[in-house]
Amino acid sequence: VSETTSRAAVLREFHEPLTLERYPVPDPEPGGMVARVAYGGICGTDVHLQEGRLPIPRPVVFGHEAVGVVDALGEGLDTDAAGAALAVGDLVAWASNIPCGRCRACVVRGQRTLCPNRRIYGINQRADAWPHLSGGWAERIVLRPGSTVVRVPDGVSAEDAISLGCAGPTAVHGMEHLAGHDLGDVVVQGAGPVGIAAALFARLRGAERVVLVGGPRSRVAVCRDHDLADATVDLDEVPDVSDRLTAVRALTDPDGADTVIECTGVPSAVAEAFELVRPGGAVLVLGQYTDRGDTPINPHVITRKQLRVHGSWAFAERHYAGYVRALPALLRRVPLGQLVTSFALEDVNDALAQVRAGAVIKAALAPAGVTPARPAP
Ligand SMILES: [Zn+2]
Ligand SMILES: [Zn+2]
Repeated sequence: VSETTSRAAVLREFHEPLTLERYPVPDPEPGGMVARVAYGGICGTDVHLQEGRLPIPRPVVFGHEAVGVVDALGEGLDTDAAGAALAVGDLVAWASNIPCGRCRACVVRGQRTLCPNRRIYGINQRADAWPHLSGGWAERIVLRPGSTVVRVPDGVSAEDAISLGCAGPTAVHGMEHLAGHDLGDVVVQGAGPVGIAAALFARLRGAERVVLVGGPRSRVAVCRDHDLADATVDLDEVPDVSDRLTAVRALTDPDGADTVIECTGVPSAVAEAFELVRPGGAVLVLGQYTDRGDTPINPHVITRKQLRVHGSWAFAERHYAGYVRALPALLRRVPLGQLVTSFALEDVNDALAQVRAGAVIKAALAPAGVTPARPAP
């Protein structure tokens, strides 16, 4: 690996494979840093971005979730977002987005996830503009001033820290919408990283029982093996919706679940959530991150059951910091690093295909060889 250039996986056009390109590594700006990427996580959203489902600029270095090691610190940056001292060589994780801090959403409404000017690593920073290395699927990433950088707690490995990817802070934000709501029996729809993160944080928040509904079979088996839920319902085994309602209701309070957290990204799952929740319960729609079209919903059920329905978009600084702070507690429940399948940077398109197929729980590229790669299954 050259000290002055870095390879990066770049999307040049929608529907095209990513290509490996090389960019110069600049010195960090004051208040910024350069990090050596240990892992750049691959998320379902990356698959959707490659398919052109969100309007993003091109070319772009992918990788909106990553962890790495401090390579160079810019002038004036000597602590992380939580105030802990930072030094070259520290293992750190960083939030993908930087809200502008000046718009009505940021300042007047205090809703930083809804800032229309957010800069997002790996998604909306052009690779053909300085500093080029603005995504985590690269040997080096240039973190700009204003980034939320958090030192990874002692005892937490890079693999542990990448295991939930952006789903971790997304779930932390989602749970914030349920503040003041007694979680009780929780149904989590979805067995991907968002579903796993939601199940874990629901347990940390004191859920009585977690029932996870999802697929494919291999993912549900991993959830069962790691005891991520008290009960699971496999979509492959119960593909019919009304059979599934019966099966899930048998595992919750007979009136229905106190809380349903949708983490599938499949539009029809929202209608199913309204059926699974009890009267007076809460539904959190967390998984519909990209627009996959309309779905029939009977709104009568929202009124009749007096439902609370929440949407939650991405995450802001405090959610990211909260996620990293929670990692030791999550690790006491689940060996997070075991959820990760790592790939070399040059195998990026193979890794994307595995994520598209749902063949892995969490795929992560190991670009700088900081952590020895484990072979894919
Ligand atoms: Zn993501
Ligand atoms: Zn803003």
